[in-house]
Amino acid sequence: MSVYSKSNSFRGGIHPVEEKQLTENLAFEIMPNPKNILLPLSQHIGKPAIPIVKKGDSVKAGTLVAEQEGFISSPIYSSVSGTVKKISVENNASGFPKEAIIIEAAESNEIELFIPLDLDTVTSQEIRDRVKAAGIVGQGGAAFPTFVKLTPPKDKEIDFVIINGCECEPYLTRDYRLMLERPKELIEGLKLIMKSLGVAKGTIGIEDNKPEAAEILKRNLKNEKNISIEILKTKYPQGAEKMLIKAVTGKEVPPGKLPLDVGIVIQNVGTAIAIFDAVVKGEPEITAALTVSGKGINYPKNLIVRVGTPISDVLDYCGGLKENAVKVVVGGPMMGVAQYDFSAPVMKATSGILILTEEEINSHKETPCLKCGKCIEACPLNLMPTKLARLSQLDKLDDAEQLGITVCMECGTCTFACPANIPLVQWIRLGKQRVLKNQKERISA
Ligand code: SF4
Ligand code: SF4
Repeated sequence: MSVYSKSNSFRGGIHPVEEKQLTENLAFEIMPNPKNILLPLSQHIGKPAIPIVKKGDSVKAGTLVAEQEGFISSPIYSSVSGTVKKISVENNASGFPKEAIIIEAAESNEIELFIPLDLDTVTSQEIRDRVKAAGIVGQGGAAFPTFVKLTPPKDKEIDFVIINGCECEPYLTRDYRLMLERPKELIEGLKLIMKSLGVAKGTIGIEDNKPEAAEILKRNLKNEKNISIEILKTKYPQGAEKMLIKAVTGKEVPPGKLPLDVGIVIQNVGTAIAIFDAVVKGEPEITAALTVSGKGINYPKNLIVRVGTPISDVLDYCGGLKENAVKVVVGGPMMGVAQYDFSAPVMKATSGILILTEEEINSHKETPCLKCGKCIEACPLNLMPTKLARLSQLDKLDDAEQLGITVCMECGTCTFACPANIPLVQWIRLGKQRVLKNQKERISA
């Protein structure tokens, strides 16, 4: 039983075709070392890390190569043994070129680990210190440094932890496979999160399209009195933090506020397992678990890939692109970023690489707005997507700000719902970026 009243869902949302059958029954494979890795210094929200290696230095898998800079930042570790070739500005899966450390990989890896800590006696401070030192970032997409979430301000009382096992983006099966293949580590990871925050209750939220994962977790939770499973309706974007909190607890996170403002911390399945690996095995975050899928790749797979591996190497490992592939996206089809340069690397929070064909993308022509209101009905945050997009187009940024453009989480639900094929989220994202820039300038003026 949950401690909260709940609805198991939220208002609005959509039901895109799931397409998970391409990879949901494929166990993780470990991809071998690539020839080179590219480690962007910014693989997280916050300040880029500062390099502490130079050209010619030898490193092992697990050697610290860039230190955290400031509170909201994260250190970077080499994911292979090898030699530093250079530090230069390189293309990045986020679409913005960033400074990166390039390392030529040796054929085999020597591994450098932290000292493993005892699961039963580890203290909350030791957990936070290890999560910080290991460079763990949120695996749910935003790549927020995890130790920051485990270090809430003193005036915020946290009483509940939710593990996000929804994986509501179509195609992606990374979290599903992790729940099936590493349920014990997930549960121990959740308990470490609860211990680090001094919280007694936790839950794992799973959409009802993953009954096998729910079953296996239930079996492993038999003796855990303080952890529950919440089965949620399958609907996009059920995995968005505010939607997940609403569905699990019935609580609303007010616009502009964070989960911690309502006493809740959310972590992704992959993040909880990375915490377990860092604490119990001493592993820094040097691998990424991801799904490679879509009808445009020869062999879809779930893979464990060394962070920094070029996307092109991953595509080759999966048998290469089919002739009818037209688009490569990093992340899910709803919120992912289309790629123009396949030399960009897999980063710590990369959850998937999708190779899509013409039939899988919406290439219908945009037509004028039908004033049908479907985008407003679908928006889970009660925004007016059609108005926000129009205001962004007209550069009426003050009006857009007043209508809450900065609250938009860029989930793409409105665009999906629009029968006129208007790129609503793209216009809103552009307007939001400009409004945020203006806000920053106002603060620093
Ligand atoms: S992208 Fe923004 S405006 Fe569109 S549905 Fe999502 S939250 Fe609402
Ligand atoms: S869904 Fe599209 S067509 Fe309908 S009101 Fe919104 S923008 Fe206009």
